[in-house]
Amino acid sequence: MAESRRGIGSRPSAMVGHMTDSQVTMVGTALKVTMRYLHFPVGVTRPPKGYRSVEWTCGVCGATLPITVASITLARRRRIWRGLGGLVLTLCALSVLIATTAVANTSAAVADWLDTVPVWVMFPSCMFLVISAITGAALLVLAWHDDGVRIPRGTPRRATHPVHSAKQVERMRRKARRLAHRSGQTKTKSNTP
Ligand SMILES: [Zn+2]
Repeated sequence: MAESRRGIGSRPSAMVGHMTDSQVTMVGTALKVTMRYLHFPVGVTRPPKGYRSVEWTCGVCGATLPITVASITLARRRRIWRGLGGLVLTLCALSVLIATTAVANTSAAVADWLDTVPVWVMFPSCMFLVISAITGAALLVLAWHDDGVRIPRGTPRRATHPVHSAKQVERMRRKARRLAHRSGQTKTKSNTP
């Protein structure tokens, strides 16, 4: 089966990771969580239609997890709907925020009216719009990485065996290579008399 136009091929490019390490460090005032994985292919072809469920066995710890792989049509459809939903949510929330600010800046009557709105109404409303915009953006990112591969919620050891897209795996590997290169350089410097 040929590779589809949207990069969803007959064999999923997404991989399942086994978490090998997790570190929590302080960066300024924020906590930074770094997780490292060993990735393995899903190793299943997509069904002609609907979903195919298989038992996937981790090559490191031997854990067995159920994996669902969508057909090309379903995977593509889910990516499009999720992306569209995220885009519409973000645009709506940002439009309301920007339009309200713009109108309040140009209309004294609207600005006066906004001043009469109690903080306990204004604050949650603004937070709702900001959270909606962030949720929409997160949905867009999820859609970008969605390859139609799922491990059902509630599956034991799902948290330590996440599904990552080929793009995410490549980014993590690049980062790991960079860190290894940097630590190699540091070791060489410290060994130099
Ligand atoms: Zn494992």
